[in-house]
Amino acid sequence: MTSYVITPAPVVSVPIVGSDALFPVHRIYCVGRNYAEHAQEMGHSGREPPFFFMKPADAVVVCLPDRITGLPYPSLTTNLHHEIELVVAIGQGGKNIPVDDALRHIFGYAVGLDMTRRDLQNDMKKQGRPWCIGKGFDHSAPIGQITPASVVPDIAQADIGLQVNGAPRQHGQISQLIWNVAETIAQLSAAWELQAGDLIYTGTPAGVGAVVANDVLHGSITGLAPITCQVV
Ligand code: MN
Repeated sequence: MTSYVITPAPVVSVPIVGSDALFPVHRIYCVGRNYAEHAQEMGHSGREPPFFFMKPADAVVVCLPDRITGLPYPSLTTNLHHEIELVVAIGQGGKNIPVDDALRHIFGYAVGLDMTRRDLQNDMKKQGRPWCIGKGFDHSAPIGQITPASVVPDIAQADIGLQVNGAPRQHGQISQLIWNVAETIAQLSAAWELQAGDLIYTGTPAGVGAVVANDVLHGSITGLAPITCQVV
């Protein structure tokens, strides 16, 4: 039997709609500026090639649909932003996956939040430094239950939205993605070999903004399990 000098970290996992089995998380990839209006609100435009950043797998915060999940306000920031996103869960890995073949690599879909320390991200951008401190912090990747792709009729036709304290903040359609899900998988798999267990946060529509302690965030995508978090 293998022995370790310290106790290994537990496997990070996400529950699945209609199953007691869990989805074990390998890596978390995120796409930047993948909706035109959000790219514009961040000072960019056009269909630039997609770019990617990562969060650690243990940044996941599982949000079950029937309860309010506490989301700790992170350190070092006074400008914590919400970004509601469609999350793609990879069921079969691969590299250089063609667009036409990409959808069969998907296990399922979930609602996620790419929480962002915007002040720190902006500082890093200005200095040409990595975004890790702005994007890859603890508890920065809330996610709802994963719905298997086999029971999602057409994710491209889904609406995506976020309310804060009951008021609409972000709204869009998955069809507005600059790089759609298949194209994103193709591009990403040219840069990294995708593995079963990878999660892809596909980008956020316009309307990002700050939240403060006690705010309640409710995120939804048509056909998927919604999430509700409260900043604590
Ligand atoms: Mn994002």
